[in-house]
Amino acid sequence: MLAEIKGLNEECGIFGVWGHQDAAQLTYYGLHSLQHRGQEGTGIVVSDGKKLKGVKGEGLVTEIFTTEAMSQLTGSAAIGHVRYATAGGGGYENVQPLLFHSQSGSLALAHNGNLVNVNSLKHQLETQGSIFQTSSDTEVLAHLIRRSGFPYMNDKVKNALSMLKGAYAYLIMTETELMVALDPHGLRPLSLGCIGDAYVVASETCAFDVVGAEYIRDIMPGELLIINQNGLTSERFAMSTTKAICMMEYVYFSRPDSNIQGINVHTARKKLGKRLAIEAPIDADVVTGVPDSSISAAIGYAEATGIPYEMGLIKNKYVGRTFIQPSQSLREQGVKMKLSPVRGVVEGKRVIMVDDSIVRGTTSRRIVNMLKDAGATEVHVVISSPPIKNPCFYGIDTSSKEELIASDRSVEEIRQLIGADSLTFLSVDGMVKALDPEGINGFCLGCFNGNYPTEIYPDTLQYYYQKG
Ligand code: SF4
Repeated sequence: MLAEIKGLNEECGIFGVWGHQDAAQLTYYGLHSLQHRGQEGTGIVVSDGKKLKGVKGEGLVTEIFTTEAMSQLTGSAAIGHVRYATAGGGGYENVQPLLFHSQSGSLALAHNGNLVNVNSLKHQLETQGSIFQTSSDTEVLAHLIRRSGFPYMNDKVKNALSMLKGAYAYLIMTETELMVALDPHGLRPLSLGCIGDAYVVASETCAFDVVGAEYIRDIMPGELLIINQNGLTSERFAMSTTKAICMMEYVYFSRPDSNIQGINVHTARKKLGKRLAIEAPIDADVVTGVPDSSISAAIGYAEATGIPYEMGLIKNKYVGRTFIQPSQSLREQGVKMKLSPVRGVVEGKRVIMVDDSIVRGTTSRRIVNMLKDAGATEVHVVISSPPIKNPCFYGIDTSSKEELIASDRSVEEIRQLIGADSLTFLSVDGMVKALDPEGINGFCLGCFNGNYPTEIYPDTLQYYYQKG
């Protein structure tokens, strides 16, 4: 489905390189392949071993990193970030990596995820004299590191990380080290790879393919990797960890060519579609998927049922960022500009339309109408995830609870609102079993079933229930 018009947005992607003469260029390509995770701002900070230098701005990777900007980024280590802003808001100052200079040296931070105890930490730090330069929750880590009483950087960072609650995949760079940390639940994906002797780290493995890196492994929950001239060492900052990778990464956010925790995203989506075919067998003529993220699930559904998969909807690839403005009128205009039905495929047919999720429902209604206007005799909507009933506190902008169509409506009420002939969601149990039949991996399912892997602090709840 189309993130910009659906109301479901990833907040960030991160990429880092250590020990390669083309560190900034590799980061550019890595960030470009992660652009789907955030389109509002991007930045790269490099280290030449003596100082940190950065370029950042509001816009796409190809817009910000001009030839002139790239020529300033020399050094053998780099970290980069693409951002979709929600918590903390947008604005140039919140574009990452954040870069801090002090007498004891410089520090650059790139963060994917959201902290849930940020307000209480900020309050505590401000009481102790910290002055914040941004409204981003990422800055809290810099202050905690600076204020830590430990003499060595790795201990300072571990001490600071142990105070954070929520979702975080961090890249932390000084003049002489790159550190990589993942929260104790491993909510966001983060993988390690190499190009010869150089190390690379990325939110998604699709970035490794683009820069010619070899995948080594995923970062473990509660792990701090330290990469410097002595090589790579792994330490732990949290002993008690429970894996809870965001299920929506598989359902919707990540690129189909990425692997998360050893599971290929396209294959995962196909499995969700196959499971849906067992839970929702429907008599129809064609199966179609809403491009792009629902196509894998639609293929899985078609394979399992034997009903032919057809391209019933096509996406106009040349509509730009102009349509990210979240006003209702532009959102609806965006649907028309971005998707078109293929009349020759759907006319006179009973169509099964597979989509990955329903957030507000307005987009689903428009697509159902579009297919019917193009001559479909019936439109059966099948969703390869359960109803999203709750907000996400960990870095996905799922809108406020009031905006979520499934928060207080039955499936039948939603079906009527979107005008479908039938509507079926995948069950929570079916979704987990499809991806992890042996129960090895742990998933966050908070937005589906309300069971969040971390405590949710009152100030966070207040923020989420006020927004929107
Ligand atoms: S609440 Fe939902 S979107 Fe947020 S991390 Fe958990 S599964 Fe992902």
